[in-house]
Amino acid sequence: MREHPGACAQCEQQRPLIGFTDAGNGICGPCAGVDLTYACRRCDTSHKIFREQLCTRCFATKQLAEALGGDGTPVPAQRQDFHSALSAAGHPRRVAYWLTGDGVPALLSQLGSSDEEFTHQQLDDLPNTPTTRYIRDVLIAASVLPPRDDRLEALPRWADALLTQALLPQRKFLTPFTHWYLLHRIRRAHRHRPLRASTQHQMRSRLRRALELLNWLDEHGIPLGELTQPELEMWLEEGPEKRREVRAFVTWARGRGLAGELVVPRVPVAAPSVFSTDKDQAEQLHRCLDDDALPLDVRTAGALTLLFGLQYTRLLELTVHDIIDDDTVVALNLNGHRLPLPPEVAQLARALRDQRQKRWHLDRTASTTPWLFPGQEPARALGATYLYLKLRRHGIAPLASRNSARLALATDLPASVLADFTGTSISNSTRWTGYAKRDWLDYIASRVQDRP
Ligand SMILES: [Zn+2]
Repeated sequence: MREHPGACAQCEQQRPLIGFTDAGNGICGPCAGVDLTYACRRCDTSHKIFREQLCTRCFATKQLAEALGGDGTPVPAQRQDFHSALSAAGHPRRVAYWLTGDGVPALLSQLGSSDEEFTHQQLDDLPNTPTTRYIRDVLIAASVLPPRDDRLEALPRWADALLTQALLPQRKFLTPFTHWYLLHRIRRAHRHRPLRASTQHQMRSRLRRALELLNWLDEHGIPLGELTQPELEMWLEEGPEKRREVRAFVTWARGRGLAGELVVPRVPVAAPSVFSTDKDQAEQLHRCLDDDALPLDVRTAGALTLLFGLQYTRLLELTVHDIIDDDTVVALNLNGHRLPLPPEVAQLARALRDQRQKRWHLDRTASTTPWLFPGQEPARALGATYLYLKLRRHGIAPLASRNSARLALATDLPASVLADFTGTSISNSTRWTGYAKRDWLDYIASRVQDRP
């Protein structure tokens, strides 16, 4: 018998069709006189039957027990946590699919038969798919695996793959530069806070530029130790501006006597040129505060960017606990500073917090952090690029608004506080303080009063 989806010709219910009327129309099991139950034979739920007349969760639980314990034997005690975490996962379908993935059955039977600890490395050896990442998140949330910074962990593997492809003389310089300088510094700086995408990107760029320079020297038969300043400048000018990222490598090589007294000029920072006009900005702010048709996260992120010039990376680090609400005042916790929110913005922030808190309760089997702006994978916050594009899709021009807001903020706040608030560096904030001419409190007040 083949099952056909669709409405039964006799009872008109949406059920698997297993037979035909005399006229050739599909009919369901009960109408065809066949006793078929549609409930899971373990838990009796009548929906989401996955396979073997089991619902997705019961199927995943059974598969797991079989794989870990062998046929019919119970799950070994040292694997109980592993088994319970995955059986309770918020998205059992993902677990069910993962169980059939490349290398997973072998891993599970190995786990079942040994007393060894389960490790991140064992998951690293499997294909890196969203499903494997989800399983890792579930196991971290259940404390089966210790938390770890995925970006940080991925960097050495990425670097080693690049170094393997480099020629031997280049590798001789780049291996110590990568491991003893770049990675060492990054690890030290990120012992207690997660690595940002921009830092990850910068490290990769520094290594790539170093490799480019060494390849160029190789082509021109110039040993690194004999590279002259004019030659270095020629190489810099021939290529795109990002070549200046080679600065880290040149400084490192000079410090170790591998290169002469070379200097890579810093990239000049242009004064910000994109500002939205006051009228533009007021319009955008009104939309964030009043337009119910906009998604709540767009309204909140938009309002915070428009008013305070918060950088996305800072915004995306916020969790529901960073909305401090003592019933009279709602404030944002930014690195220990309390930023009080104007009433309308406070309402948005509060609503978003409540919404996220609810969602987190559903997803908490895979996430230890209740992000204010969670991404597709609940353990991670939304990416900065996604947020940028999402705001832009709804007509909020983020960069322009952020510049205007930061300009407004910079008038009154010391650079160090501005840096904390907005997530930029202090030197960057000092520049902004220099550009600024207005009082930010007046500015916010006028924005809110301006509303039609
Ligand atoms: Zn079931």
